[in-house]
Amino acid sequence: MHVKLAGYKCCLLEDKNFLNEVGEPVRYECLDNAPTKKFVCPNLCGSSFSHNYSLTRHLKYECGQEPRFKCPYCDLHYKRTSNVTQHIRTRHVNCTTYAIDIIDNKIVGIHFTEKKKY
Ligand SMILES: [Zn+2]
Ligand SMILES: [Zn+2]
Repeated sequence: MHVKLAGYKCCLLEDKNFLNEVGEPVRYECLDNAPTKKFVCPNLCGSSFSHNYSLTRHLKYECGQEPRFKCPYCDLHYKRTSNVTQHIRTRHVNCTTYAIDIIDNKIVGIHFTEKKKY
């Protein structure tokens, strides 16, 4: 089984750095340009996707695993700091974008000099 689709480029941020089962970067075909995210995660983790395969991938590789990066402004957790950053940009506009690594208990993805203690 190989899920890689050679030659396609994807416009979906959440798929950009996805690795397949053998650790190769995978890019998916983008079938339409509509940004509507109609595939909502049934586990109510706050994720939604434009394509069914994105949701399938999320359920298989992300949602069943422990998310270690937490949004500092609400209780949502994510698998990747990029997801937290994206979430903050859309849900917490004008807030500083960073994530809390709940396993190492430290702040990650911070790009500024202001200090925050947790
Ligand atoms: Zn989920
Ligand atoms: Zn949040």
